[in-house]
Amino acid sequence: MADVRSIALGDNTVHLVQRGGASLLVDTGPDFAGAWETLREALGGDVPEVVVATHGHHDHAGLGRRWQQTGTPVWIGAADRSLTARPLLQSAAEREAMLAWAEGTGAPPETLVHVRERIESRRAAALRAAGSAEYPEDGVRWPTGLRYPPFEADLLVEGDGEVGGVEIVAAPGHTPGNVVLAIPEEGWLFSGDQLLPNVDPLPAIQFVGEGEELRRFPSLAHFAASLERLAEGGFTRCFPGHGEPFDGAGEAITGALSRIERRCERVRGSLRKAGPATVYDLCMRLYPRGTERRFWQTTSSVQGQLDLLASRGEAREADGVWEAR
Ligand SMILES: [Zn+2]
Repeated sequence: MADVRSIALGDNTVHLVQRGGASLLVDTGPDFAGAWETLREALGGDVPEVVVATHGHHDHAGLGRRWQQTGTPVWIGAADRSLTARPLLQSAAEREAMLAWAEGTGAPPETLVHVRERIESRRAAALRAAGSAEYPEDGVRWPTGLRYPPFEADLLVEGDGEVGGVEIVAAPGHTPGNVVLAIPEEGWLFSGDQLLPNVDPLPAIQFVGEGEELRRFPSLAHFAASLERLAEGGFTRCFPGHGEPFDGAGEAITGALSRIERRCERVRGSLRKAGPATVYDLCMRLYPRGTERRFWQTTSSVQGQLDLLASRGEAREADGVWEAR
């Protein structure tokens, strides 16, 4: 018999899982002012033997170093190592790759000026979150902004694994090294950001590789493949990384897959009816009002849908122009 205690920390939820005398925590918790104290109090005397971060985003792995300082090891999927080990966008190669991608969308020069500024402000914010003793003030989803002191994970999980009778399932997509946890006998899925009660996470523009050898990671193609794999798991209850645990995990997975399918069909339909287009042109067709105001959200979504279509041979790109096949 397994037991779960779900603890809300601002916008996030972490889960203490106890099984057969072993205990582990799913996600470290985010590092806002007071988060660590709230989490320790909610755990009472229970100290997990291991903390498994589902992925390296700041709100899921932000307290990693704090856990290590108390002697609790922190594990993460191997491909997310760089997300915990150093702040985002600090290398010139990473910033250039991001900018080159934005230029490749076909966005007009005035938009690219904002894109450049946005990359710089994200770089500066990541550096502050990593190094400052103060908490950033821009708290919207959490009581304060989040810090993210870098750390090297104690164990880098390659592929699937197991800890304390709980399965670790590789589910790349949301990030390259994303994992979910599962207790199949109970029908339980600890989904991180892979499956959320009210929202589908946006596919991000992200890169894998080192130094100059960065290549773009097709997030949504991997994310959908991971969901398809989880759809086979017969899960009945989901313990997500945000919000309350909910029943109907299998139906939620099917729903998420069909929404991805619908969005892809819209993109494919537009390429077929209105002809080949750049990523930016497609965004302007599909989201005429949103594209300028929300450049990153719209372009990264459409890029994700194109990646997924391309992985199925249903769309292809040449010189930045996409066409349906
Ligand atoms: Zn995330």
